[in-house]
Amino acid sequence: MSRPTGLRTVPQLIDAGLADEADRDALTEVARRLPVGVSPAMAAVLTPGDPVARQLLPTPAELDVAPDEHPDPIGDARHSPLPGLVHRYPDRVLLTPTLLCAVYCRFCFRRDVVGDGVLTDAELAAALDYIRAHPQIWEVILTGGDPLVLAPRRLGEIIAALDAIPHVRVLRVHTRVPLVAPERVNDDLLEALRVPTPVYVALHSNHAREFTPAGRAACARLVDHGLPMLSQTVLLRGVNDSVEALEALMRTFVENRIRPYYLHLLDRAEGTRHFRVPLDEGQRLVRTLRGRVSGLAQPVFVLDIPGGHGKVPIGPGYLHEGGEVEDPWGRRHRLGEGR
Ligand SMILES: *Cc1c(COP(=O)(O)O)cnc(C)c1O
Ligand code: SF4
Repeated sequence: MSRPTGLRTVPQLIDAGLADEADRDALTEVARRLPVGVSPAMAAVLTPGDPVARQLLPTPAELDVAPDEHPDPIGDARHSPLPGLVHRYPDRVLLTPTLLCAVYCRFCFRRDVVGDGVLTDAELAAALDYIRAHPQIWEVILTGGDPLVLAPRRLGEIIAALDAIPHVRVLRVHTRVPLVAPERVNDDLLEALRVPTPVYVALHSNHAREFTPAGRAACARLVDHGLPMLSQTVLLRGVNDSVEALEALMRTFVENRIRPYYLHLLDRAEGTRHFRVPLDEGQRLVRTLRGRVSGLAQPVFVLDIPGGHGKVPIGPGYLHEGGEVEDPWGRRHRLGEGR
């Protein structure tokens, strides 16, 4: 079935056969609290219960908030000097010019803030002034929301303003758009991203099935345009919690000239318990991947420490007490003297 207009409301989901009538009340409550949105491109590929549907279709389980879940699980608010900015690390800052997205992921750690709001001109001007006034800011990371849903002209103005700040040497854009709304990656968007300052594109994708022919073509346009691409994946129960799914996804990234960057342990946003994969299970998956796929296809497994204390690698350790090192297949070897 083709669903060209995308799906934004519970009645639309029910009409499209993507939600049960019996869940109408619960889903209406979910949609009252949190944004819902399935883009046309993803509506065309998903089938109920598949890894794409699991990420995007709302479920009554989201109403179940666990005691250890939090509306701001990684403590962005306490590091926000101004609206639209999060400054946790000295050399880089997050800038969120919009909180709109092309799809609304059911596990999003910013789910309490995404869905509405674009920085006003005055807020954007203040955020740019802050960046200008802090020469230690070497990199600006545009995130949101999804910055690539902005009108290309608006995005181009922001990119141009950042490009003009001498101490800002690197720009990074975090996005799902190339896969979930590939039609947006047109000449106007490419033009908006064409500045002398290097622009890295960090693509958020959690399953190889998101790579449609149109999505692959959109990624190729970005890379051909001179924009290096990185990946970002969240480890999710029922989506990519198998070595086969992770292997296929990481290989797909590399085959599309996207260098795997981070595999995230799920942040504890409210109503996301059904997506959790325990840390030790994640480490086993990452270890197995190490023994099976190219070094080019290895992401760093990371945790954003709750409370705003930064991201750290949490991959399995290979060094053991007593001078032993473990190989990718679990066998231990003695290290020589002096190591
Ligand atoms: C994740 C994050 C970054 C980027 O971290 P990298 O490790 O450089 O990818 C920067 N600032 C904040 C507040 C973040 O949460
Ligand atoms: S696209 Fe990103 S910011 Fe938007 S809902 Fe999904 S994870 Fe959250």
